[in-house]
Amino acid sequence: MVKAVLGAAAETHFPVLVGASEGERDFLGTRQLAVLFKSLREELDLVAFLNADHTHSLAKAVEAANAGFDAVVIDFSALPFEENVARTKETVEAIKGINPAILAEGEVGDIGTGSEIHEEAQKGFKSLTTPEEARQFVHATGIDALAPAVGNMHGMLQSMVQGTTKKHLNIERISQIKGATGVFLTLHGGSGTDDDDFRRAIAAGINIIHINTELRVAWRQSLEESLARDPNEVAPYKILAPVVESVKEVVSSRLRLFNAPRTNLAG
Ligand SMILES: [Zn+2]
Repeated sequence: MVKAVLGAAAETHFPVLVGASEGERDFLGTRQLAVLFKSLREELDLVAFLNADHTHSLAKAVEAANAGFDAVVIDFSALPFEENVARTKETVEAIKGINPAILAEGEVGDIGTGSEIHEEAQKGFKSLTTPEEARQFVHATGIDALAPAVGNMHGMLQSMVQGTTKKHLNIERISQIKGATGVFLTLHGGSGTDDDDFRRAIAAGINIIHINTELRVAWRQSLEESLARDPNEVAPYKILAPVVESVKEVVSSRLRLFNAPRTNLAG
């Protein structure tokens, strides 16, 4: 996945952010991932950032900052507002103490969990982040970037994988939150979103977009194809080469959409 995202950045010359969840950091090793990423970034001479996605403890955030991650998503959004504020603020101060240039992101609102395929819509996260709670949260925590709930959700429904349905965003709410906070805004759970909604969300103030599930879907589909193509092949780098290429194509096409000139904007 790292090769695919950085390969797309090298091909398109657009900046990218590579995200690794707590599970992915534990799988490869937080420090090992950072070393691999930085080596590839340097080799390919890219504008690319390494993001510690959804970090649920101070210890894990500190571990990522110490390893050299460029950004940390501090996620205490499941806690009541006041507790979310207190623990996010504490974590921002700790990671800025390690690297003052690190980008600290916080989350307020409910956008579900898991970059996976959901059989049906998750219940109970219909409430959007309000501009007032966003303003208070940014002011009280000192975060550089905010992840709001603006109609987005993590993962994709089967119908979105098949392309028969699309996610839609509340563009007006994005504008209001941008106006109330003035910080970078990150759209989590972007996979399966309508193209025009993406364009309008960017124009309204979205700066970073997460599309993990789309990449995982492409990864799995192309891996299954690659394995089926030659049942006698056992060399991982040969099986995985077309998989990297498939994921790279999805990333490149999304980067071109996100960075398209705004004159194409509809609505
Ligand atoms: Zn997310």
